Amino acid sequence: MKISTSAFGFPKIGPNRELKKAIENFWKGNDKEELFSEAEAVDLQRIEEYKNAGIDSIPSNDFSLYDAMLDLSTMFNIIPDRFAGITDPLEQYFAMARGTKDAPACEMTKWFDTNYHYIVPELKGDLHIIKNRPLYSYNFVEKKAGIQTRPVIIGPFTFIALSKLIQKDDQGNPQTIKAIESPLFPKMAAQAASVYNQILKELENRGVEWVQLDEPAAALDLTNEQETALLDAYIIATERLSSLKIQVQTYYEAVSGYKRVVERLPVAAIGLDFTCNDDNLNNIRKHGFPSNKILVAGVVSGRAPWKTDIRQAVNLVKELASIVGEERLVISNAAPLSHLPYSLDPEHGHLNPNVIKLLSFAKERLAELTQIKNIINNNAPIPDQNLQAIRDLFKNDEVRQKLAMLDLDDAQREPSFKERYETQMKLYGLPLFPTTTIGSFPQTKEVRKARADFRAGRITADEYNSFIQDSIKEVVKLQEDIGIDVLVHGEFERTDMVEFFGEKMEGFAFTKNGWVQSYGTRCVRPPIIYGDVSRPEKMTVDEVVYAQSLTNRIMKGMLTGPITITNWSFYRRDIPKSEVVYQIALALNDEVLDLEEAGIKIIQIDEPAFREAVPLKKAKQADYFKWAVTAFKLSNIGVQPETQIHTHMCYSEFNEIIEHILAMDSDVISMEASRSKGDLIEAFEKFNYDHGIGVGVYDIHSPRIPTVDEMEEIAERTIRVIDKSLFWINPDCGLKTRGYEETLPALKNMVEVARRLRKKYALVSK
Ligand code: GLN
Ligand code: ZN
Repeated sequence: MKISTSAFGFPKIGPNRELKKAIENFWKGNDKEELFSEAEAVDLQRIEEYKNAGIDSIPSNDFSLYDAMLDLSTMFNIIPDRFAGITDPLEQYFAMARGTKDAPACEMTKWFDTNYHYIVPELKGDLHIIKNRPLYSYNFVEKKAGIQTRPVIIGPFTFIALSKLIQKDDQGNPQTIKAIESPLFPKMAAQAASVYNQILKELENRGVEWVQLDEPAAALDLTNEQETALLDAYIIATERLSSLKIQVQTYYEAVSGYKRVVERLPVAAIGLDFTCNDDNLNNIRKHGFPSNKILVAGVVSGRAPWKTDIRQAVNLVKELASIVGEERLVISNAAPLSHLPYSLDPEHGHLNPNVIKLLSFAKERLAELTQIKNIINNNAPIPDQNLQAIRDLFKNDEVRQKLAMLDLDDAQREPSFKERYETQMKLYGLPLFPTTTIGSFPQTKEVRKARADFRAGRITADEYNSFIQDSIKEVVKLQEDIGIDVLVHGEFERTDMVEFFGEKMEGFAFTKNGWVQSYGTRCVRPPIIYGDVSRPEKMTVDEVVYAQSLTNRIMKGMLTGPITITNWSFYRRDIPKSEVVYQIALALNDEVLDLEEAGIKIIQIDEPAFREAVPLKKAKQADYFKWAVTAFKLSNIGVQPETQIHTHMCYSEFNEIIEHILAMDSDVISMEASRSKGDLIEAFEKFNYDHGIGVGVYDIHSPRIPTVDEMEEIAERTIRVIDKSLFWINPDCGLKTRGYEETLPALKNMVEVARRLRKKYALVSK
């Protein structure tokens, strides 16, 4: 017997984002039939990719028009009441994803620790099958491509774990909790499992041989009870099945409770991720693998775009084969390939050829699986990849030495916050409750057009620069007129807060067509950090200094922080993530010091990704916090006490991380709080946060203009738990997605809040 290959999760968007275009055209009024036929073509093209790459077990149902979780919600009749009146299923499906005039969209949230976002199911009662989508997909592929496939479905445990539960409280008001945190969780998982059992029965009756149930939630830190719920769910899901074989696929981390879960799951095959770290490998070395199961070994990455070191992968596969036996070993991608761009093909002639040699996107991943299989089964030669030699071309000794010489434990600002803050505030002459914004101002059609024209060479650099300067001039005047205290230049020169910096630093590459789905039809092209990072030239100084020259008020410099730049890029894996982040922090530090030297008093370093970069497993979190905090401190090390460092983050669950945010020692942090002020304020009740802080007093995600009263109320609630002399007033986030017609009145109202508060508290505070 020999090993075979399996794969799943190939990108759904099509090689040139055909699916995105088809769906958006449908939203603009195109026929449903047109949408379906284009979507089917994209799906079938994916099937061809699996086939052409020689993959042995080809999946179906790993495609979706919008989101796989949303597919399940609609398939199981989990339709929130506010959408129940929409009778057309497709219309209802998109309404849940995007909202309508009358009904807000379902919540969207991050899928595990990836940059993909799913639509959160709103559970109220039991699940019911409306449509067996996997069966439909199986039949479709058989009819169109003539092959028998392995339907892929998100498993019952993960589906329920990632849902939210809507319950009534004592007063009959609806209350929402994360299903996995509810005492009802095991019961709900069991109920879901019985519905899955019916789906599986139907697939068995149709003659399907294998089904893959994805259970990434089995790789979270599960409690004993949750592990039991997982095992119980599978006993129910597999009841009375005879010929159908189930493969439970875990990924992103090592499976929780390895020995117990792997042994007891009543299924024919278990998929483990061997690329995320060595934990699964160490577990299998230690505990072995049950002799009645097949191991689907994820040996090539679904998340990082780096070429697989084939020799290393072959050695891994050989070791696994020695443990489980070749006849029980299938090799696969470790996580869905949809986290990767479609193919490297369009990048030839665009990216540096040496960078290309380091990369594999989804299509190339499939080829790697076949390559590894041929080496194992047929003694095909192992290629000479020389990956390290290529990487060495992108080494920067100066950066490495600088880092090696730094005492990272000593990255501490002097004097203490209290002293610094006093000096700063006296020097700046700022009033109590200073007002500011988060950085960007509305990116109008004209702004976007000017940037695009400049990129395409339709206007000269001079024309472009003078356009940017005019925009800065306008926005400075506007902020002065409104009466904002600390001004920003508006970020008009930036398309994206990560791309802008990546393009100015060494060590980053930008693809031509490397699109990855972020959610629904939204795709992003993440920068690729392939080499050591440095900053050859100033990145932001000219614009900020120009803006400062226009006003007597303080102009805030605006940078994206090292953790966010790394996390929203494809970062290299040949050195620890902490080192990638440190290198970027050093590059930013050069910029910070240049801004300071140019006379900029306040510098904001945004870290919206600080929380989402926290590792899934608790045991790994302390280490993360240590280096992440150090990296932030490194980015502004060496500034004078008179220079004020701000940071910005946008999420509300601060409870677990607030001590680390304080350890970052920024003089001021501004935080988004739009959707759950309560949680945020609660965090401050429990924890004494004693640095400067601004809590977003209005939600910029909505076009509604907030009233003075409602913003005042939020500010009042916050200063009950935070020292008044530390409190700043700002909106939630950057204003770039808004128009001026909303921004102007909203900011005017916000400034009025500060005036009222000053009047009220001026006497008391002095
Ligand atoms: N400075 C950025 C902006 O204003 C911050 C973006 C954000 O809130 N994540 O656009
Ligand atoms: Zn924000």
